[in-house]
Amino acid sequence: MGAGGRLGYAYKLGGAPNNRRQAERPPYKWIVFFWKMKVHTIDLKFQGVDGAIAAFLIESGGELALVESGPTSTLPALRAGIEALGFAVADVKKVLLTHIHLDHAGAAGWWARQGADVYVHPRGARHLIDPARLIESATMVYGDRMDELWGEMLPAPAERVVSVEDGEQICVGEVTLVARDTPGHARHHHVYACGDVVFTGDVAGVRLTGQAYLSVASAPPQFDEEAYGRSLDLLLQGGYKKLYLTHFGEVTEVEDHLTRYRDAIRAATVFVRDRVAEGVDASSLHILYEAFQMEQAFKAGVPAEVWGRYQIANPTAMSADGLSLALK
Ligand SMILES: [Zn+2]
Repeated sequence: MGAGGRLGYAYKLGGAPNNRRQAERPPYKWIVFFWKMKVHTIDLKFQGVDGAIAAFLIESGGELALVESGPTSTLPALRAGIEALGFAVADVKKVLLTHIHLDHAGAAGWWARQGADVYVHPRGARHLIDPARLIESATMVYGDRMDELWGEMLPAPAERVVSVEDGEQICVGEVTLVARDTPGHARHHHVYACGDVVFTGDVAGVRLTGQAYLSVASAPPQFDEEAYGRSLDLLLQGGYKKLYLTHFGEVTEVEDHLTRYRDAIRAATVFVRDRVAEGVDASSLHILYEAFQMEQAFKAGVPAEVWGRYQIANPTAMSADGLSLALK
């Protein structure tokens, strides 16, 4: 679990001692930090694996908000993570979803039923209130593994679902987060910016902690390379100093990351386009695309064990399906 925040400011206390207690202190200046926002990264231990899916707990001015609910299957880990930080689950009043895929928003209905307001892209709102279509399309991808992977997705009461447009602000304690429409991975995708940090959902890709390799988040059915490019431009123009990736954690070399991610999307798109042009079928494409990505990962120093975690966070077969679907 990490804590950080770019919005702290410092008070310098010092000068002539004005009482006995202060006079006894060492004669150097005291610096006290008052953080406007603290971000706690909570590892949801998805499928029993470390560092695959995160939720972020924002703490500011006595208020708590979550970015991402994670799936229902990881609610016990999320609740334990919140409690381990010394907070009560009931104190989380706002849940900001980057998009409605089950690994990010599966437990949103549960939170809404606890009384939290759930903030979501306008294209996602109705699917939280009535998740039938979301469940149906996920079942087409995951089949009988739905329950094991994601758990039950509960419908959210409509009065708890807040649809947020591009540029809308959400207050949490002393800070304001700004939703930005960022399609490319999905059309119902927002990032949430706060000062010089931004919570990127899947639009800045998948990069596990301590690794350089970037895995392209292109799950079906809404991967769109052009839209992705525009969203990455928006992030680059934002001049952010820190990204929080749902898969997984903090990235501080922002420009390098975003520029390399754009290249990775291009390379993946060209690879799949060429294989499809050669007449390769879907299951062969899965194998070829995995080999293509593994080669890049291993060249970038990803150990075999970590490759397994990348496959849990962002399966290459699913990414290949999304890339090939976009060609149709
Ligand atoms: Zn995701």
